Amino acid sequence: MNFSTRLAEKLPGILPAPSSPLLRKGVPELRFFSIAANHSRRLRWGLQKKMVWSFQRADVCVANSSCLVHPATEAYAQEAIEAIKSEKVIAVPTDTLYGFACDACSLEAVTRIYEIKGRKLTSPLAICVGDVLDIKRVATTNHLPHGLLDSLLPGPVTLVLQRGESSILEKTLNAGIDTIGVRVPDCEFIREVARGSGSVLALTSANLSGDRSSVCVQDFESLWQHCAFVYDGGLLPSGRAGSTIVDLSKVGKYKIIRPGSAKQATVAILENAFSIACSPLAFSYFDSLREMATGVLPAPFSGVKSPDSKLGFAKSMNFVRICDLRNLRSAGRRVSVIRNSNQGSDLAELQPASEGSPLLVPRQKYCESLHKTVRRKTRTVMVGNVALGSEHPIRIQTMTTSDTKDVAATVDEVMRIADRGADIVRITVQGKKEADACFEIKDKLVQLNYNIPLVADIHFAPAVALRVAECFDKIRVNPGNFADRRAQFETIEYTEDEYQSELQHIEKVFTPLVEKCKKYGRAMRIGTNHGSLSDRIMSYYGDSPRGMVESAFEFARICRKLDYHNFVFSMKASNPVIMVQAYRLLVAEMYVHGWDYPLHLGVTEAGEGEDGRMKSAIGIGTLLQDGLGDTIRVSLTEPPEEEIDPCRRLANLGTKAAQLQQGVAPFEEKHRHYFDFQRRTGDLPVQKEGEEVDYRGVLHRDGSVLMSISLDQLKAPELLYRSLATKLVVGMPFKDLATVDSILLRELPPVDDQVARLALKRLIDVSMGVIAPLSEQLTKPLPNAMVLVNLKELSGGAYKLLPEGTRLAVSVRGDEPYEELEILKSIEATMILHDVPFNEDKVSRVHAARRLFEFLSENSVNFPVIHHIEFPTGIHRDELVIHAGTYAGALLVDGLGDGLMLEAPDQDFDFLRNTSFNLLQGCRMRNTKTEYVSCPSCGRTLFDLQEISAEIREKTSHLPGVSIAIMGCIVNGPGEMADADFGYVGGSPGKIDLYVGKTVVKRGIAMTGATDALIGLIKEHGRWVDPPVADE
Ligand code: SF4
Repeated sequence: MNFSTRLAEKLPGILPAPSSPLLRKGVPELRFFSIAANHSRRLRWGLQKKMVWSFQRADVCVANSSCLVHPATEAYAQEAIEAIKSEKVIAVPTDTLYGFACDACSLEAVTRIYEIKGRKLTSPLAICVGDVLDIKRVATTNHLPHGLLDSLLPGPVTLVLQRGESSILEKTLNAGIDTIGVRVPDCEFIREVARGSGSVLALTSANLSGDRSSVCVQDFESLWQHCAFVYDGGLLPSGRAGSTIVDLSKVGKYKIIRPGSAKQATVAILENAFSIACSPLAFSYFDSLREMATGVLPAPFSGVKSPDSKLGFAKSMNFVRICDLRNLRSAGRRVSVIRNSNQGSDLAELQPASEGSPLLVPRQKYCESLHKTVRRKTRTVMVGNVALGSEHPIRIQTMTTSDTKDVAATVDEVMRIADRGADIVRITVQGKKEADACFEIKDKLVQLNYNIPLVADIHFAPAVALRVAECFDKIRVNPGNFADRRAQFETIEYTEDEYQSELQHIEKVFTPLVEKCKKYGRAMRIGTNHGSLSDRIMSYYGDSPRGMVESAFEFARICRKLDYHNFVFSMKASNPVIMVQAYRLLVAEMYVHGWDYPLHLGVTEAGEGEDGRMKSAIGIGTLLQDGLGDTIRVSLTEPPEEEIDPCRRLANLGTKAAQLQQGVAPFEEKHRHYFDFQRRTGDLPVQKEGEEVDYRGVLHRDGSVLMSISLDQLKAPELLYRSLATKLVVGMPFKDLATVDSILLRELPPVDDQVARLALKRLIDVSMGVIAPLSEQLTKPLPNAMVLVNLKELSGGAYKLLPEGTRLAVSVRGDEPYEELEILKSIEATMILHDVPFNEDKVSRVHAARRLFEFLSENSVNFPVIHHIEFPTGIHRDELVIHAGTYAGALLVDGLGDGLMLEAPDQDFDFLRNTSFNLLQGCRMRNTKTEYVSCPSCGRTLFDLQEISAEIREKTSHLPGVSIAIMGCIVNGPGEMADADFGYVGGSPGKIDLYVGKTVVKRGIAMTGATDALIGLIKEHGRWVDPPVADE
């Protein structure tokens, strides 16, 4: 039955038109509509010309105006407006897809849309307004550059913005979410309806959730019956990608939430015309983060009983989704518990989706204990003769960089690595020749009495994996590319059937390898990388931690189905924040499923030197503090044996914490977000009446660096100013991008030491904070200094001897009795220094700080908190970096903390300052230099990575806000470049490909000119500034 017949049957009012390609038969009693198109948009969107829809396309025939389906023309706009005002749902064309629309302020109509679509109530709806000017009625726009909105809209873009206090939107719309997606489609019909409704339209695609989207009315024919009217705009020409969703809720940053149909043009406008930077941080809207929490209980939960609620569950892809949480109430702070009827670790606590939200979501456990380090119990996985898991030491490993075909060189490298103490070595195996070489490598090593387990690193080569499983001890597969083609980084709409058929394909390709590993007793690592997720996963989850976990689970389910359990998981990313979230989510899901597979931890493409060690410490150290991780790799752009030492240091730190079960007394933790990044920003100092100096600069909004200085340093003021990274103008200091924000003087200079006092005055005059202990300030007062006090001094009242209004920095351990912490509620402090002595054995600095932050949040005390770590004399530099990355990083990745002060009596001042700034940058807080992503190199590497990396860094290190990837090959390089702005990738021997984002823009450039070409590209994109000229 063709469309015209179906239409005639269903809707007797509509008669087909002979001239319409859709309606070929019927009574020729027709009217045609043709309204002038608005061509102006076409100019702005350039390549998106095909997406533009206007009344001109609405040459649709109808027989009379009483029927359900009407053309989307001016003549029917008033009818649509009336329907909206009557709280009805209508279907309308937009400039991308057909959508369901209703009055966003009508709870009844909005609920109806959720019902029609079968959409989860926790999935937010976007809204649509008639004109760009209307956006400010519903969302906060004053942080956006002038002209930005008009450059993007009307058009195929959804802007995610803060709703703001003055938004006219009902609080019930997307309850609990403080951002809102706003559309102004380039389609006159829907804009006219939005204007005429006198309200705001809720707008979502006209399809069942999970089904493909609609580009013509018959695509959603089965849903017409639920709409008051369906307005037909003909076949929409821009494909099914939908609008590009971009989060602009943060000042100066954007994040593409969904690429949609206009990503390129949107990014070009944001970056080139308005210099808005791509943000790597996870934003809340549409991100998987809420999805994770609202996910997603496993199939056994179908037996959930909850007498006080109307929980509903629907199975989907082996997951059971909570589909009706609407009627639940959190009953103040009560946490509901739902239990599965089956046995196992199947308890889920519920908590409000966000502060005050009526929606409850499962609170997922991600580690054994929240108040001390307890290693997570895992099964033992055997890798050759090495046992992995919680009953065994944390194993350390690395990867060779030689050409695998060069058997002698690879054997030599493996021996060097083993001699340095690695437990396991990985070797890249690209093809058949390399697989053949693996047999020789294994033989030679055995002959030389080296029995270190060998792991084959496999990408895109199932046949190679099968072959090498006959001789190596473990196979690493990347679920993003083992059976899937290379990701295209395009949004592809998958139907459930298409999705399932890809899963079947994976099972077919992966099963032989699992069977072989079972037969030969081999281990496997299911190693997801953030940068190389398949299109299938991206289409459902985006490049999110949730997607990473699901990608690994697809493979794990096959292993389990075949009763193969000798495998471990990894969830690597070059961004430690994402990496930590992904591992936590993985473990949370494993707890729910009752799985106990060990974890291999690593931060990919960490880079070299201190940068690389720091990023690894932040990611790996954070997880080890929570008792997660059974084997680790610190990937550095250095010879592989150099990775062993930092790896060992990290493993020791984690082992000690778990052995001593370092922590604090149990406490309830309600405010920390485990699965998303939400920074607790302390209140920055504001200027008070009567203050002689400006204190506003003593802390930095993106994270502060404080340094401890000695009296000796005050003897040479200019040298001190340079050490603090001030700019000098005729000998006077001025603050710059990476200048220290405040300094601590353990001892004040005598009052008659004019040189020292003048130096301090000059620093205070440029808004650098100078902090001195209470006893020093009382005996040798320094005008306008801030004073360091501890809780005892506060409760004793000694600080009251200071002049009124003196600014305080309070030193707190975090594990004090709550009665002692109470005093923080009654004082005014400029900052808190969190400080636990370095050599405390039983108290964990990380858990003590979490307890402190919990106390502060619970009591709405918003003082900024600086992580103050005093290292002992003689500490090794790498040890310092790894401890700082772990202790402070573990808090900063959870958004807890406003800055750092690292003290080490015998360490170089510049090293300490740089380490502090590196740590803030590694935690994605304060960017003070170029961000590099460089692969560690392996047998695929096509150039000398260390040499080239050094050359590029030397020429480009002065570009804060710019990130550059330096990758050894195109097999994995482009996929693993994460969110780098520019990429320098080995294309073929001696040739380099250059990338902007994930798009190759120059191919086959000779190595000799490639660095200059990269600089040219950075200039072309307006991201270059000349290096600063040295002072004086
Ligand atoms: S990007 Fe290529 S060369 Fe670099 S480590 Fe990965 S596979 Fe090896």
